[in-house]
Amino acid sequence: MNQICLVEDEQKVAAFICKGLEEHDYQITTAKDGTMAKALLQSSKFNLFILDVMLPDINGIELCRQIRQTDTKTPILMLTALDQIQNKVAGLKAGADDYLVKPFHFSELLARIEALLRRQQTDIKTEHTLTFDDLTLDTWTNVVEREGKQITLTAKEYTLLELFMRNPNKILSREYIGEQVWKIDFDTGTNFIDVYVNYLRKKIEKGFKSKLIHTVIGMGYILRGDK
Ligand code: CA
Repeated sequence: MNQICLVEDEQKVAAFICKGLEEHDYQITTAKDGTMAKALLQSSKFNLFILDVMLPDINGIELCRQIRQTDTKTPILMLTALDQIQNKVAGLKAGADDYLVKPFHFSELLARIEALLRRQQTDIKTEHTLTFDDLTLDTWTNVVEREGKQITLTAKEYTLLELFMRNPNKILSREYIGEQVWKIDFDTGTNFIDVYVNYLRKKIEKGFKSKLIHTVIGMGYILRGDK
């Protein structure tokens, strides 16, 4: 369940937001001023912050700036009482992700919150997914897909592919591959790296529209588009 921290001193507004969000299965913790908000930040984790600009002890924009000093990722939605452009700009500059002008319809608040949480999910996914052309490798789940079709790799094939995907468009020598994937000094007498590269190629290229791993004669291999 998503945990939201609402910082708002006006009780009526806070109650209105809490009631609506709880009906939509969000868990809300409210703080009525900046001091309380900062205490909450020490003790709890939140998925999103809603900060009112006008607070009794601190400006919501300043609070936003302070949150961003230690937390650069959690989405922050600012509420501003007046449609003042300086508040919007200052809020966004302080690290807020979006703002809403009071009074607002609850459905609008909900839409903004959902969009921010969705965007955050996408960002997290982007962070742990490597992509090259139509090939993706998820470093959390170890799932490899091409054109959306899942490809089953052995552990070594997976490590080899991850190495290529972390170094796209770059020639990787057999020595380098040997060190990185097998943690060995390369023995020039064997061709097992070529053998493994070919296993991997078969799995990620056979039945698909283009080649991805290319041989660079005398130098090694490269992951690049088939041009
Ligand atoms: Ca207020």
